[in-house]
Amino acid sequence: MQCTACGASYDSEAYTCDACGHAVTVVDGYPAFAPELAHGGGGYESKLFAELAPLEEKSFWFRARNELILWALRRYRPDVSSFLEIGCGTGFVLSGIAAQHPTARLYGSEIFVDGLSFAGARVPSARLMQMDARAIPMREEIDVIGAFDVLEHIEEDVDVLREMHGALKRGGLLVISVPQHRWLWSPADDHAHHVRRYTAGELRDKISGAGFEVLKSTSFVSILLPMMVLSRLRMRGRTDDYDPIDEMRMPGWLNAVLYRVMRAENALIRWGLRFPLGGSRLVVARKVTQGADEPPG
Ligand SMILES: [Zn+2]
Repeated sequence: MQCTACGASYDSEAYTCDACGHAVTVVDGYPAFAPELAHGGGGYESKLFAELAPLEEKSFWFRARNELILWALRRYRPDVSSFLEIGCGTGFVLSGIAAQHPTARLYGSEIFVDGLSFAGARVPSARLMQMDARAIPMREEIDVIGAFDVLEHIEEDVDVLREMHGALKRGGLLVISVPQHRWLWSPADDHAHHVRRYTAGELRDKISGAGFEVLKSTSFVSILLPMMVLSRLRMRGRTDDYDPIDEMRMPGWLNAVLYRVMRAENALIRWGLRFPLGGSRLVVARKVTQGADEPPG
């Protein structure tokens, strides 16, 4: 951890600075690095996560996305010893990583402290904290940082990428997913408080600009894109009654069919196919430090 008072580095477990004695504020039982923002959600997240948590394990979208993330870890950093998820939500991704990498030290963060209890219940081994991704209190400590459908919520996404770069060890891995294609913008994005949907080039430029080398960049939710476009078109013009949870409640048979389609797509991605179009984009990138003792790339 990096002390927010004096900037010194200290042991991650203690949350108290050895150099100046500054102790991290605790909010609702969690270390809080940006306590002034901890209750900014006004309970909204807590309510949303309570509804979301039981649906995620069944949802074709969350399951398929988890499988893609877990593949990326197996493929690019099978020996991960520390993993930080920014915006860990209910801990569904962390639980998958805990199962696949039982010896890795897992960290999860949320800006609103309300969300953390769900992740804590699901992944008791994870070290959870409240923090602002624009000021990550870690320096060269982490093997892999993940942020899954998080960057599109943050105006200062470039600052967040730079902070992730600083928190990663030399050669550390970044795994990111975001919603893609500006033309797919719909009331669902408004409702989710998205700041943007990305283009492939924009995301690549921002990640490269923050000091990373992109190892893999692919669309996903590509085969289902036509269905997604139809659903979004149907939604246009009705901004009032949109409920994101509603969209996840679908007949079991349909969810099962969509899951099989997504699994087939994941297999194609694993074989090296890169879809040009898709509702989302996955990027895997490696920290490259342009230091004197280290050649770039
Ligand atoms: Zn200090």
